Order: sequence, then C-alpha cells, then structure tokens
Amino acid sequence: MSTTLFISDLHLDSSRPNILQLFQSFLHGIDAKTCEALYILGDLFELWIGDDDDGPTGRAVSKALRECTSNGVPVFVMRGNRDFLIGNEFAAATGCQLIPDPSVVSIQGTEALLTHGDALCTDDTDYQAFRQLVRNPAWQADFLAHSLAQRHAIADTLREMSRQQVGSKPPQIMDVNEHAVRGILSHYDVHTLIHGHTHRLAVHEMRVDGKPARRFVLGDWYTEGSVLHCSREQWWLQRLALPPG
Ligand code: MN
Repeated sequence: MSTTLFISDLHLDSSRPNILQLFQSFLHGIDAKTCEALYILGDLFELWIGDDDDGPTGRAVSKALRECTSNGVPVFVMRGNRDFLIGNEFAAATGCQLIPDPSVVSIQGTEALLTHGDALCTDDTDYQAFRQLVRNPAWQADFLAHSLAQRHAIADTLREMSRQQVGSKPPQIMDVNEHAVRGILSHYDVHTLIHGHTHRLAVHEMRVDGKPARRFVLGDWYTEGSVLHCSREQWWLQRLALPPG
C-alpha cells in the first residue's frame, strides 16, 4: 500500500540525543523505506544558524537523510520558525527538496495545503512582527555574514527573549487562529490542511465555504515521536515510543 508520511517539530538538538536516535530508527524503519514520499514540515532542528554550521547534530541528520534519499525516497523539507535558515547547501548535502511555506500538493489523490503553522498564529502579534523581521532577506544576509560563534550568541539572545515572551502569554494566543485557517483554505480552494508548530496533535473537522474540511495537526517529538500516515484508504496519526534509556 502506497503511503505518504508527514513529520514536524522534531526540534533536534545535541541536548536530546534520544530524539535523534528515534529519528534515525524511523528513517531506517520499513514505513520510511517504503513510503512514496516523506514530508518534514518545519522545525526539524531546534536551531539552524546556517548551512555552514558543522555541529554534530546537523552532521548526523544530514547523513541519515542522505541515506534515505539515496535509497530513492523523495524527502521534502519545509522550513519552520526554528530552522528558517535551512538553505540550498543543506538540500544538496541531504538530497532533500526544499518546499515553500505554504505549498499545495496532491497527497494520495487529495489536494492538501501544507504549512509549518506559525503564520496562522495571528493572535500572537509580537511573534508575527518577529517573524516578519527574521524572514526578511536583508536581515538573513546580515545574520549569515556573522561568524558561527557570533550567530550562536545572537540566536541565544533571541531564544531567551522568546522564552520570556512565551512564558507570559495565555495558551490560546499560541494556537492557530480559526479565521486564519478558514481564510487560507478558502484562498487556495483546498479542504485539507496539514501543519505542525503548535504541538497540539489532533484532527479537526470543520466546514469551509460550505464543504467539509479537515485540519491535521502534527505532534512534536519530545516525549514520543509523531507521524501522519496518508494512504488512499486512510489517514492516521501514529505515535512512536522513545528508545529505552
Ligand atoms: Mn515551530
């Protein structure tokens, strides 16, 4: 049975080697090896400060993805709010194809809108202002002109600021805005949405322009892994248990 797989929000980082291990075993598993395509919808990394970053996590992930694409599995990568600096060198090293956010793709016969999800969190106005700043090509070029050490220092400062802001916000502000969800589905005339970012694993049923619509929210990889399986027959969310230890 032909299946398309979706994951997001792994937040891979040297501080959580067990998640990297789970990701590697997922890529070596039968589902990933035999799938029609694998989509990674953002925040594969906790932080990505440029394709020239030579840290051990990036190297291990590159190697694992390269193995997967070399075996003939198409892997599509969308940038998230943590790893928006993933670029063409990463794509070349891994054999993955970068896709824009949002993208409309035919998944097993169903037109689906794919997005990381942060752009839909329109109630969080501070975050949207920050997003606009860091997605600006001039800001990115300026950031990438700094040394790796300087970039790490800037990223640490930004992360600390974000942590303080997030801590003071009510949880509903951090979720997607229903109006934004309906708006984007209506704009693209699509009735299936797949996104991550909020870490609120769920399938939501709704109506858009008088037709039934579904919103699949991918889970994060913190205490377990999370995979959306899509075949012609069914779409289902799978939880992956962490390796012991
Ligand atoms: Mn995110």
